[in-house]
Amino acid sequence: MLYAQSSQEPRPTSASVTADFPIAIIGSGFAGIGMAIRLKQAGIHSFTMFERASEIGGTWRDNTYPGLFVDVMSKQYEFPFQPNYDWSRKFAPQPEILAYIKKIADQRGLRQYIRFREEITGARFSDGRWHITMANGGTDVADVFIAATGFLSTPLYPDIEGRDSFAGPAFHSARWDHSVPHQGKRWGIIGAGCSGVQITEALAWAGAEVTQLVRRPQWIHIRDNPPTSWLDRLWRRMPFVYRREQKKLWQFINVMDRWRLKPGAQREAMQREFASYLDVIKDPELKKKLTPQFHLGCTRIPKSDQNYYQAVQLPNVRIESRGIKRIVPDGVELADGTVVALDVLVYATGFDAHAYMRPMNLVGLNGITTAEVWQDRIHSYGGIALPGFPNMFMLYGPFSPVNNVPVPLGLDQEIAYIMRLIHEARDRGVAFAPTAKATEEFVARLDAAFPDTVWVGCKNWYADQTGTPILWPLSQDAHKAFFERDTTEDLDVIPARQAG
Ligand SMILES: Cc1cc2nc3c(=O)[nH]c(=O)nc-3n(C[C@H](O)[C@H](O)[C@H](O)COP(=O)(O)OP(=O)(O)OC[C@H]3O[C@@H](n4cnc5c(N)ncnc54)[C@H](O)[C@@H]3O)c2cc1C
Repeated sequence: MLYAQSSQEPRPTSASVTADFPIAIIGSGFAGIGMAIRLKQAGIHSFTMFERASEIGGTWRDNTYPGLFVDVMSKQYEFPFQPNYDWSRKFAPQPEILAYIKKIADQRGLRQYIRFREEITGARFSDGRWHITMANGGTDVADVFIAATGFLSTPLYPDIEGRDSFAGPAFHSARWDHSVPHQGKRWGIIGAGCSGVQITEALAWAGAEVTQLVRRPQWIHIRDNPPTSWLDRLWRRMPFVYRREQKKLWQFINVMDRWRLKPGAQREAMQREFASYLDVIKDPELKKKLTPQFHLGCTRIPKSDQNYYQAVQLPNVRIESRGIKRIVPDGVELADGTVVALDVLVYATGFDAHAYMRPMNLVGLNGITTAEVWQDRIHSYGGIALPGFPNMFMLYGPFSPVNNVPVPLGLDQEIAYIMRLIHEARDRGVAFAPTAKATEEFVARLDAAFPDTVWVGCKNWYADQTGTPILWPLSQDAHKAFFERDTTEDLDVIPARQAG
């Protein structure tokens, strides 16, 4: 039981609605911007976006490291309602994604709704409204609270002895120091995940001296990343071509991604294909060092646009897998006592993927807190809501499809559903929260699907403290269908605030 029955009983207050109906959106990454666009399109202007940084873009603002390209096709990494006809490549580089987010925000006049450098620390549902507190001591009130705070926005640093002793520049991949020249420095890259792979290959081909410290090699997708043709860019501008293309892409992902969800021939063929990418490595020792010891897909698959397996064979590149004992002022000491001398250290060590909206703490009905409800198990209803937290929505919260649906498409489905609830909440003067029963049924449905998926049976950042992955283990169609059905039975209706 995730919920004791008493914790989600609605507290009755008398209902009424005023015209303004303020909505707070926390975060101005893809999710926050998408939500704001949909609100504006619906003629709802009473929203404010709170952003702790001084610019929009979230992930794509913070991660500016060399070699960062989007891992799904650029055509899929755009909102369906906001096509970008001018992607330069099949998989766009980071500056283009950031430019896209900024462009759509500017075109829609969203900057006037954003309060930059305002970090939200918490919110309490009281008298039918959300009372918001900020790090700078400010407060605000909203009828709807939307956490668009990202699932990979809190950098994770490794717990290695001597971390503060390193004499040269040392930074996380999400805090890249562009003042450090690539050439003439001995770079150490700690990490073999998506960022570590992209950084290593980019620095390698740029001629830098690179040592990548690899504890656990990953399966890597070696792919071509051709430029888009002018004909393709022109074609996409025709509405019927665009619609047909989107439909085809949708069908393509539904078929192509089945291997992640069910065992079978497709999964085995994928495994063989990925193993074959390693065959370009001539040195058997190096090949062994880079061969993963777990099945394909269990961890997020790094995408290599500049042939990582060729890059690591360049004379300026070294793969070190002996394990790090400690960090010392002039480099890294390995488990056997060898010191690798370095001038720059990069922590490509990922993110706290389970932070979600935290450290923000929310207090819902009957004093229930998000810290309490997630103590034993991080969960949600549909990836977007929690029992006992009326008119509180998360975008890409726990159990959202972080791995098998392109994020903008998944977001669009979540946002469309939240919009339905916002309209109804505003019109009826009520607040919605999922029932404990619907939430438990939702979690049980996903739990039943996990054993067949690729995300179980190895250590990965999807897994929670119980070892269960926190993502969407069903198809893209099932995600769409979840939000398009009638969910009346799943929701508690709570009278909202009094007017005035
Ligand atoms: C290096 C990297 C590469 C990635 N590549 C891909 C990819 O190729 N394909 C893909 O589908 N996904 C990728 N992702 C996942 C990516 O995070 C999502 O696709 C998407 O950008 C998430 O958008 P978001 O708005 O939900 O979150 P974010 O982009 O993380 O934005 C959250 C925003 O909320 C703000 N915020 C957070 N907490 C607070 C607070 N308390 N108060 C005020 N503001 C707050 C943050 O400053 C940030 O601006 C990648 C992630 C990383 C880190």
